Amino acid sequence: YAAKRSANASAWYTDAQEASRLTHLSLLSDLRSAVRESELQMWLQPKLSLTTGKAYGFEALVRWQHPVRGFISPAEFVPFAERTGYIGMLTMWMLEQAIVTLKNWQDKYPGQTIAVNVSTHDLRDTSFPDQIAALLRQYDLNPKLLKLEITESGIMEDPGSTIELLNRLRAIGLDLSIDDFGTGYSSLSYLQRLPVSELKIDRSFVTDIDKLPATQGLVKAIIEMGHGLGLSVIAEGIETAAERESLRQLGCDSMQGYFASKPLYGEPLQKWLASLSTH
Ligand code: C2E
Ligand code: MG
Ligand code: MG
Ligand code: MG
Repeated sequence: YAAKRSANASAWYTDAQEASRLTHLSLLSDLRSAVRESELQMWLQPKLSLTTGKAYGFEALVRWQHPVRGFISPAEFVPFAERTGYIGMLTMWMLEQAIVTLKNWQDKYPGQTIAVNVSTHDLRDTSFPDQIAALLRQYDLNPKLLKLEITESGIMEDPGSTIELLNRLRAIGLDLSIDDFGTGYSSLSYLQRLPVSELKIDRSFVTDIDKLPATQGLVKAIIEMGHGLGLSVIAEGIETAAERESLRQLGCDSMQGYFASKPLYGEPLQKWLASLSTH
């Protein structure tokens, strides 16, 4: 059954009944041992410049290959880890994977960055910046290469104290990005106070944008606002050449999405990296 499910992961994704059958208590103890048993994987999805077409970095996306249940989507177990207090452990595991990977790339693929998704729960832990700083010191990595993505909705839950913590992360030298932008009801007065360098337009504004003039107007305004604030703007979830062309014409700086590449792991990732130098 597990094999069937992982072979058809997208069908399983929307199977709410299956999700409700997950017994949360056992999933919790599973999550605790998942790191130890190396059932978690860090997949990497490329980010490309819309002006040069070149890849300049990756986003880290967690995958859980459960021995019995098969593939479990982060959309399911990340919220579960947040509710049960295990998100911190997951975030630190991803950060260490990213840092070790960047360290290995230093000479072969200089300048390539990795962005790790950070939960709002992480931002409520006042020791979080110190923990990252300690990891960076341990591996002697240039903080510029590591980025953090924080969702707009998460920031706006408690903007005052979040800005304070983001300032501390910024002081370490990390670049910060606002993820899923456009879905989180940003207050413009807070937006200009956020110490971020990138704004990531949510996929819901990207899908079919080439066919939707009103969406184009909205996205153009978002891009101009981002540039006005001195931010670089990236669009997520680009699946077609037409969507990419629309975003490029609207002035978007970079892109991510299945059209360029799905998240990669193992051999396909190595092939992608090898092609960087021949671009
Ligand atoms: P996100 O950070 O907005 O990541 C983008 C999601 O869209 C990823 O799903 C990615 O695989 C998917 N995607 C990328 N390009 C396309 C495309 O062209 N079309 C479509 N339909 N989808 C695309 P994924 O990996 O399932 O992750 C879902 C969400 O789970 C992420 O949204 C993020 O919020 C969360 N997540 C993933 N990994 C982590 C993690 O390590 N830590 C935390 N805290 N959250 C994570
Ligand atoms: Mg993200
Ligand atoms: Mg996103
Ligand atoms: Mg998204």
